[in-house]
Amino acid sequence: MVVGRIFRLRVTPEQDAALHDWAGICRAVWNTGLEQRREYRRRDGWVNYPQQARELAQAKTDPDLAWLTQAPSHVLQQTLMDLDRACRAVGTWRVRWRSKDRWSPSMRFPDGPRMRVQRLSKRWGRVNLPKLGWVKFRWTRDLDGRVRSATVNVRDGQWHVTFLVEDGILEVQPPVSDPRPAVGVDRGVKIAAALSDGRMLDQTFITAAEQDRLVRLQQRLGRQHGPRSKPSKDRQRKNPKARGRRQQPSARYLRTKKRIAAVQGKVRRRRDDWLTKTARQLVREHSLVAIENLNTKGMTRSPAAKPDPDRPGAFLANQRSQKAGLNRAILGKGWGRFALTLAHQARYTGCRIVQVLAAFTSQRCHQCSHTEAGNRESQADFRCTKCGWRGNADINAACNILAAGLAVAGRASPTPVGSVNPQAA
Ligand SMILES: [Zn+2]
Repeated sequence: MVVGRIFRLRVTPEQDAALHDWAGICRAVWNTGLEQRREYRRRDGWVNYPQQARELAQAKTDPDLAWLTQAPSHVLQQTLMDLDRACRAVGTWRVRWRSKDRWSPSMRFPDGPRMRVQRLSKRWGRVNLPKLGWVKFRWTRDLDGRVRSATVNVRDGQWHVTFLVEDGILEVQPPVSDPRPAVGVDRGVKIAAALSDGRMLDQTFITAAEQDRLVRLQQRLGRQHGPRSKPSKDRQRKNPKARGRRQQPSARYLRTKKRIAAVQGKVRRRRDDWLTKTARQLVREHSLVAIENLNTKGMTRSPAAKPDPDRPGAFLANQRSQKAGLNRAILGKGWGRFALTLAHQARYTGCRIVQVLAAFTSQRCHQCSHTEAGNRESQADFRCTKCGWRGNADINAACNILAAGLAVAGRASPTPVGSVNPQAA
């Protein structure tokens, strides 16, 4: 199976500068290539990867574009290939520009087989990257396989390398008869995961001190001069058009941003670690894991603006900030990533992952199938108005998810299923 292995790089100042330059060149190649594709589309034409690659090779011979030759040519070709794939996947008009603000530097080195990776000591390894030479990285785990390609990018303000490795392990197919039990998982805002067997899995990913620090840093960032903050009075007088234009962010602003990224990175790594461990444990112990098919992207989208019918140009309150709070909570528990990790880990143990429709799982009683909003006494407590079953609301939902998952898989259910919605993802 092909898996990704991430390591933190320790680059020299020269390597750091070179990587930033190359990332800039990749960004320029991407944006130029995208503009060219859009231009062709406007005239009902189509430009493909081989043509763009040829034109890139030609552009490199132009003395005015000599800066293109600084970056390894395979990396630039790979950028065009990625662009080609993106345009085919979502359409030329929906592919994003790589803006300096939003895009975080990233580049792919395609020729993995020629890349040499060596272990230097218990803690350190190094990789030989084209034009960059040996780069050291923290050896946190063995590669266990053949390197197919490498991606170098910035995460939490530091350069990282992700090796795509063929680990030589075959995917385990779910066995016909599996003695391991099945489990339903309810992913929640309060508790990260409630299981149908009654277990609650959770961990605090951010400490109170870190929370305080984040709030303070965000407030500080708001006071400092960012790329789009209001220009000084002096600057506005000199150039009336400067208002709203991009300007150079201050050094303090950039420093605060870096500090915020450091805290957020720490929290994210802690969460990713817990998610991976939990997913591994679940797929090892169970023959089937049922989860809700939550559309994390749709749920976390900010609500649409509501125009005010009485006042043109004005907007009604759309509870944006309340939604933002829930969004933070959902993303804070890493729902989308949990499903991905489960699916990936399940390939090693032959566990089946079933996604079921999320509707009513929190309102239905798992004992008698009575479905009513009034069943839910509070966020945490569930009491069936028909049969009187009482218990934790998340555990009840997990039982419903398990029953629906078993129905999808065509297996007998240990609890009465009733009118469970047998729709799979
Ligand atoms: Zn009931």
